[in-house]
Amino acid sequence: MDRKTLSGRDNFAISGIFLTHIERQQSSPPSVIVIGGGISGIAAARALTNASFKVILLESRNRLGGRVHTDYSFGCPVDMGASWLHGVCNENSLAPFIRGLGLRLYRTSGDNSVLYDHDLESYALFDMNGCQVPQQLVIRVGEMFERILKETVKVRDEHAEDMSLLQAISIVLNRNPDLRQEGPAHEVLQWYICRMEAWFAADVDTISLKSWDQEHVLSGGHGLMVQGYYPVIKTLANDLDIKLNHRVKKIVQRCNKVMVTMEDGSNFVADAAIITVPLGVLKANVIEFEPKLPEWKVSAISDLGVGNENKIALRFSTVFWPNVEVLGMVAPTSYACGYFLNLHKATGHPVLVYMAAGRVAYDIEKLSDEEAVKFVMLLLQKMLPDATEPVQYLVSRWGTDPDSLGSYSCDLVGKPADLYERFRAPVDNIYFAGEAASVDHSGSVHGAYTAGIIAAEDCRRRLLLQHGMSDLFQAVLREEMTEAMVPLQISRM
Ligand SMILES: Cc1cc2nc3c(=O)[nH]c(=O)nc-3n(C[C@H](O)[C@H](O)[C@H](O)COP(=O)(O)OP(=O)(O)OC[C@H]3O[C@@H](n4cnc5c(N)ncnc54)[C@H](O)[C@@H]3O)c2cc1C
Repeated sequence: MDRKTLSGRDNFAISGIFLTHIERQQSSPPSVIVIGGGISGIAAARALTNASFKVILLESRNRLGGRVHTDYSFGCPVDMGASWLHGVCNENSLAPFIRGLGLRLYRTSGDNSVLYDHDLESYALFDMNGCQVPQQLVIRVGEMFERILKETVKVRDEHAEDMSLLQAISIVLNRNPDLRQEGPAHEVLQWYICRMEAWFAADVDTISLKSWDQEHVLSGGHGLMVQGYYPVIKTLANDLDIKLNHRVKKIVQRCNKVMVTMEDGSNFVADAAIITVPLGVLKANVIEFEPKLPEWKVSAISDLGVGNENKIALRFSTVFWPNVEVLGMVAPTSYACGYFLNLHKATGHPVLVYMAAGRVAYDIEKLSDEEAVKFVMLLLQKMLPDATEPVQYLVSRWGTDPDSLGSYSCDLVGKPADLYERFRAPVDNIYFAGEAASVDHSGSVHGAYTAGIIAAEDCRRRLLLQHGMSDLFQAVLREEMTEAMVPLQISRM
């Protein structure tokens, strides 16, 4: 296929476009349109381009990376989306790139559970009066929290119906008065719940008891990307045929072809499409499908949950805070708790990042940037009365950003177990990738990356078969650099 076949076309009759496309493609390589330029779409486009397919990637924003968004306006990299590699091990599909690029990881925890992406000893917690919570109490309540969670497994085994984790915790506390916490210990318990909510980007009253601990977390703990995540995106996207500022509005499937229409009315036609737009965007029906998607796919899109997480990054002229990884505020409810990631500890830059999940994250988006910064500064000044005003700030709005409409997928209470499988399953020549298509590692960068590779491979096989081609185009699904056995660079200062 020549390049024109995949470039924008205006005002053609749909059938005319499909016919022209079929005539031109006789002996040309199969063509694929990838929709969405996050890690998943870029991985899919990279894999198919390496396999000698004709690929075009359409991205609505004026930048690549999607929910991987490293901002450099502070004079240092600050990740406003993903910032950790969850699973610092060779089994992690992204490890080869990170290794090959020589990117440094700061391991905030060696723990493989979803509860502790920071080690307990790296916290400094404060109450609302600015008094530091004794570390012994933090550790004691942490152990109590784990006991409570263990007890919720019994509740799960007793009930056929799913329920929220909060409901299960209430049942456990009613049954076991010795596990109930009062006063400062209660506030520390709420802080643990707040941290757990951050993992799921959802409130504890919406987290599914059946699913919350079913995730297969990779080994090796959690490594913060010291130089930011963007270098991974940039390397993978090198030399791909990418169209920024191209927002897809409609996808038509006909005669083994796919026609994709932009908001300005221009069209692209190819043999197949891989959709990697966020789950929130699909839920909002921003993209019209013709024919309509089948019911099993529509219900997977609507039944999967999408959470919200936001960051407020603050750059200060001097460091006035203690040399710990996380500064946390305990409070009577998990909603009122909060915490700041101390980037100074990992990167040497005087930056604190406030992180909020669930309802708090949505509430922050109702504020202007200035109001949001004022809100978190009040929190910080309660914890550390000597806190100075920031010299620069950044506020994310993943929940209302039309190109994300949420941070990442999550399991809602009482939904079927096969949702991720159904979300990822193709509909003829339309493939689905993105983090929500990752059955084992949804909500992560490496999960989204792998989902992109899998969709590309499925698509490649189908098109080769359809075109009656033997495996002429050897899949080169991974860059040569992935083979370089350089060790991961892990530090903890
Ligand atoms: C605040 C936050 C913190 C996170 N922290 C971590 C972390 O520490 N570690 C981790 O592993 N994961 C983390 N994640 C999750 C991780 O960022 C995502 O799972 C992953 O980046 C998703 O990649 P993706 O390619 O599936 O989607 P995206 O990156 O969202 O890519 C989809 C692309 O589609 C584009 N698009 C949308 N609509 C259209 C349209 N109509 N037409 C064309 N293009 C469109 C978007 O602009 C976007 O570029 C975090 C996410 C957030 C929001």
